[in-house]
Amino acid sequence: MIQNIIDLLYPRRCPFCDEIVDWGRMVCPACEERLVFISEPVCKRCGKPLEEETAERCFDCMRKEHAYKAGTALFVHQGAVRDSVYRFKYKNKREYAYFYARQTAKRRGEWIRRRGIEAIVPIPLHKNRQKERGYNQAELYARFLGRLMGIPVVNHCLVRSVDTRPQKELDDVQRKNNLKKAFKCKKNIVQFRYILLVDDIYTTGSTVDAAAMVLKQAGVQEVFFACISIGMGF
Ligand SMILES: [Zn+2]
Ligand SMILES: [Zn+2]
Repeated sequence: MIQNIIDLLYPRRCPFCDEIVDWGRMVCPACEERLVFISEPVCKRCGKPLEEETAERCFDCMRKEHAYKAGTALFVHQGAVRDSVYRFKYKNKREYAYFYARQTAKRRGEWIRRRGIEAIVPIPLHKNRQKERGYNQAELYARFLGRLMGIPVVNHCLVRSVDTRPQKELDDVQRKNNLKKAFKCKKNIVQFRYILLVDDIYTTGSTVDAAAMVLKQAGVQEVFFACISIGMGF
């Protein structure tokens, strides 16, 4: 809590260029002008932007079934967004969480509400990795989102039981195998029927799928996800 207050009082920096912004602003005017949020048409499954209005799903989601029901994302993972999320994740820019969460609540709040979400669950880090980094970026994002939307955040029922290698070094099949046993579900998740998984980046969906599978095996009816940025649908 105190950390949150410090984060809020500290001069706010633009999440895209990292310059200090005027009081009351969250993004500098120059970056704000360039900001592109994902808008319709999007893939009905993963939320990636689509080129054609007529398509229901992106190429990825036509090829494979997902364990989750549907997802939504704020940005395409490119340019200034990619750099921003990188700093948020690896360079201790924890304060960006508030901006991401506010935008998610504002632009995707309705989408989330319509799904009847009862709890928000951040994608956990393995304890070794969390120790190394000092924080779980997905959890910070989830906490602000939960607070803004009045939805409880449940952080300890899903754990990362295997310290998986960074996913970006692996191909699709390797990612899947790598993640098969990566998550474990602890007690009490069954009380929730509809869960929103929250993560920073969605690439192939294998992480969200692996987590969703474990939650569903534990008795959760449907799993949705929200993330800050997502790969292009191709
Ligand atoms: Zn800026
Ligand atoms: Zn898709």
